[in-house]
Amino acid sequence: MFIKRLPKFEYHAPASLPESLDLLAKYDGKARVFAGGTDLLVSMKKREVLPEHLISLKGLAELKGIHDGKEGMKIGASVTLDEIEHSKMIHDKFRALWDAVQVMASPQIRSLGTIGGNLSSAAPSADTAPPLIVLDASVEIISSKGKRKVLVENFFKGPEESVLKPGEILTQILIPNPPKKSSGAYLKLMRRAAMDLAQVGVAVCLSLHSEKRICNGARIALGAVGSTPIRALKAEQILLNKEMNETVGKEAGTIAAQEANPRSSIRASKEYRQEMIEVLTKRAVMAAYNRIN
Ligand SMILES: Cc1cc2nc3c(=O)[nH]c(=O)nc-3n(C[C@H](O)[C@H](O)[C@H](O)COP(=O)(O)OP(=O)(O)OC[C@H]3O[C@@H](n4cnc5c(N)ncnc54)[C@H](O)[C@@H]3O)c2cc1C
Repeated sequence: MFIKRLPKFEYHAPASLPESLDLLAKYDGKARVFAGGTDLLVSMKKREVLPEHLISLKGLAELKGIHDGKEGMKIGASVTLDEIEHSKMIHDKFRALWDAVQVMASPQIRSLGTIGGNLSSAAPSADTAPPLIVLDASVEIISSKGKRKVLVENFFKGPEESVLKPGEILTQILIPNPPKKSSGAYLKLMRRAAMDLAQVGVAVCLSLHSEKRICNGARIALGAVGSTPIRALKAEQILLNKEMNETVGKEAGTIAAQEANPRSSIRASKEYRQEMIEVLTKRAVMAAYNRIN
């Protein structure tokens, strides 16, 4: 396969959010925003999308920075995967998200690729999606008509399809403070040790009763197991009010595999994915549990 050149486009570098929204409105249907370009430029080379205008989000201060406040954390949509990888705040507070970026792409791609771009691409295998779902995160979306907030759990509509409408920009990811005595984990299965999309991704967040080590909160989300990332609600129920051990973890894994609807693809067969959901869920449950002090 020969590498194709990028098709022709006009490049815009707005300095503010209102300016970006004006450009999107002006070039209605003919423009795309981009952050790191690690997804979009590849799709353009493959001629999957052919925008006539590219609007860079890099100059927008509103989309930058990681801010920890009373209500929780705000992560700008243009924060790179590399910034998350090196954030002690995210490591300490939102371990499942931190785990996810460690196993994404390569250092070069992580230094360009952003968390907002990862969600907006809406790949079923997007690695930041399952952790953000178990962390009960929302996204803030802005257009010339106003602002709206959507739970990450409700953001995905299908492969490469999200609730984002033309003219909208994802500005922030909002993560509420985690419960006391809680932690999380994200495990990803790949065909090789790095630079591959997930065959299966499993995120878990657990919280324990303050005195006894009994589970009083559990969230499990799965990636690359259907047309969108999903929550394994029945598997979560298995964990509630139980003392964690390998048997309970395995039981949750079995149920999680039944809740998923993976398909066979070049990355893995449906059957293999289903078995791996079981194994990874159990391991992620135990990893999250063992991280709680
Ligand atoms: C070699 C390679 C390896 C990769 N490995 C992984 C991996 O392991 N795991 C994984 O999940 N992904 C992986 N990816 C995919 C990609 O790097 C990530 O999804 C990355 O986070 C995309 O971010 P970006 O800023 O580059 O997005 P961009 O390419 O800039 O944008 C992607 C899409 O989102 C839209 N968009 C971007 N920002 C916004 C916004 N703020 N508001 C609205 N729309 C927006 C764009 O219009 C475009 O449609 C890989 C890609 C490559 C090339």
